[in-house]
Order: sequence, then C-alpha cells, then structure tokens
Amino acid sequence: MTSKKTAFICDESYFWHNAGGGALFEPSSKYVEEYGSIETPQSKRRVKNLLEKSGLMDSLVQIKPIPATETQLACYHTHSHIENVKRISEVGGEDCGDSAIVGKGSFEIAKLAAGGAIEAVKTVVQSDDIKTAYVLTRPPGHHAVADRGMGFCLFNNIVIAAKYAQNVLGINKILILDWDAHHGNGTEAAFYEDDRVLFISLHQDRLDPRNTGFLESVGKGKGEGYNMNIPLEAGSGDAVYEYAFEQIVVPAADKFMPELILVSAGQDGSIFDPLARLMLSAEGYRRMTRTMKNLADKYAQGRLVCLHEGGYCPVYVPFCCHAIIEELCGVTTDVADPFIYAMEGTNYKKLLPHQKAQVDGIRKFFNIGGGAL
Ligand code: ZN
Repeated sequence: MTSKKTAFICDESYFWHNAGGGALFEPSSKYVEEYGSIETPQSKRRVKNLLEKSGLMDSLVQIKPIPATETQLACYHTHSHIENVKRISEVGGEDCGDSAIVGKGSFEIAKLAAGGAIEAVKTVVQSDDIKTAYVLTRPPGHHAVADRGMGFCLFNNIVIAAKYAQNVLGINKILILDWDAHHGNGTEAAFYEDDRVLFISLHQDRLDPRNTGFLESVGKGKGEGYNMNIPLEAGSGDAVYEYAFEQIVVPAADKFMPELILVSAGQDGSIFDPLARLMLSAEGYRRMTRTMKNLADKYAQGRLVCLHEGGYCPVYVPFCCHAIIEELCGVTTDVADPFIYAMEGTNYKKLLPHQKAQVDGIRKFFNIGGGAL
C-alpha cells in the first residue's frame, strides 16, 4: 500500500516508571484497599509483545530514544517543576502536582519519554522514507502543565515535541489531535494563544480534568479559533467518532492545512477501559488513524506522529494499538480483534439521533465551512 516506512520508538525503561500505589485513580483509604496505580506498565508492555508476536514489528523501523535535555523540557515547563521532579526522583513516591507520582528514577525515564517524542518528530520531518511514527511513551504527557504534573503525566511529551518542531525544525503549522478519553488540558494550555498550532481534543465530557475541555474554550488572542474541544457524551462509540471526524476534524484540518500532524493517541476510549465510559473498538481506532494519515498525505507530506497517552485495559489496549500501527505502516497481519463479539448488542457502531444532534451542534458552534479559523 505504501513504500514509506513507520518508526517505532520505545525503551525498556518506559516500563520501569513506578506510578505509585492507590486503587483506580484514588489513593487507598480506610475502606479502599490498596491495589496499585491503574497506570501500570502492563498495557504498554503487552503492546510491544503483540507487535513482536504478530510479526508487525519486522515492518517497523525501531529507533532508540535519546533523553530530552533540561533545556528542551524548559521550552514548556518551569525550572521549579523540572527541579521538583528531579528532586523527588532521587527517592521516589511523591506527587509532583495533581495525581502525578514520581517514582525512583522517573526523572530520567520521563526525559527519555519526551526525548522519544522529539526523536519521532525529527525523524518524520528529516527522513526521506520514514514519514510516520508511533511512540510508546510512558509516562504519558498530555495533562502536564507548565508548572506541575497532572493525571499520571510528569512532562508534556507532545508539547515538547511540537515546540521542537516549531523552534528547531522550522515547522510553521502543526495540527495536534488528541483522541485520549480525557481532555488534553496541558496541551491546550501550551498553545492557547498560538495560531500556528491547531489543537483539537475529542474527549468524554467532564471526565478529567472536570474543569477544562469545554466547547467554549476556543483559544485567546492570536490563538482564538485554534483551540477546538469536542466534548462527547459517555456512550459515544465508533460511529460517533467517525461522524465527528467527518463533520468537524477533517473540515478544520482542510482549512488549517498543517505541515505536520501529531496525535495524542490514548486508548482509554475503548469499551473495556476502566477509566472512561466510551465505546471505541480497535477498528474504530484504525479508522481514526486512516483519516489522520489521509490528512497527513494531503497536507503534511505524510508526516504523522502518534504518541501513546492513556489506556488502562491491559488486555484490549494492545489490539487497539496494533490496529493503529498497522494503519500507520500500511501492513496488515492476521491479528483480528478477539473481543469484538462482546460488543454486539451495544450501540457502538450506531449514530443515535441525540448523538448526531450533539455533533451537529458542535459543528455549528465552530461554523465549519463558513467561519474563519
Ligand atoms: Zn486518558
């Protein structure tokens, strides 16, 4: 299907970050028995295992990440946040903000995660034959704001990579699409007044953070019109996302004409995820990837980087991620979704009238097709 190659960026140490204890997303307490953080290495490690088992890894170009420098982190993060993560990392086990535990040695791992994102962007921009990349980053990044970590995220990998593309590689227009189930608040904050980055986040309405991700947050100053939140109701599945892509994401990208596309490709929108109430299937993730790839081919010389964010069902995430990577590299294996039958009887493939009305309302709000972006 394509002669262009896909890079895969990962490092064993990504799986060694210790996100601390607790149960689901809360610390253990009087009646909540200790279980361990829901942000474990398992879902990501099993992605890598499945890529190897299916043989898809043989079609990818594996690139080793290089740690981001403190100067590179400081393109977004404050000196005091960087120093705080570094200090906690020496002993481990403290929060560097809001539910973002730094484990022992996590500073080095987080630098390597941000560095992996930078390496991916550098590769797809500078290489003649590698135009797409998947970065299996951990810890994730999209919640981290300038001065603190949030929601399992220590440093904002995608922001650091995008700023590298702007400042070092001279890329003018970047589309960042965030389909993680949670709002990409840290990424939004980074580019809220920037008209060179179009940020589009599709997320479950008021999931986490609850006080960001609203439709009305459209950017500020020069950035007004370049921040698009698409908050979806719980229960939204493949058909809703497909419709939202067709009606909002694609027309917005057509207008913006990005030179580089980055995706915060969290997989916690899957029907089996314990942290969200969305109903995406592996096939749904495949189709969203296809759409982004078509946009990258149309406007960005094929340059498309997907970064792992959330995804908390260790069994199902590998199948979602495998489908995404198959689509990125244009290679199909014999891996089929073994769990899809369990979704029969749900509405994940149906666009229900109230869901269509919601997406139509969002499209009208953005005045896609008529208004200025
Ligand atoms: Zn998430």
